[in-house]
Amino acid sequence: MSAPAKTIQVYRISGYVLGPCEKCGKEERALLMFEDYGMGWECLACGHSDRVDRVEWIEGDKLPPDWGLG
Ligand SMILES: [Zn+2]
Repeated sequence: MSAPAKTIQVYRISGYVLGPCEKCGKEERALLMFEDYGMGWECLACGHSDRVDRVEWIEGDKLPPDWGLG
């Protein structure tokens, strides 16, 4: 039995990953590229990261309101 493929939805321009962190529950995940070119995400709130099997790109540069870029 293989695990179901992990998929994330990512805003193409901003790199913001939709959905809450599996660990802390905050929606502050960013796209992460591993050294072997694998794709995944990193939580900017707690630092947790994980690999995914597939990325669905969303057009746009949306960011969560509390990323504090201002
Ligand atoms: Zn987190």
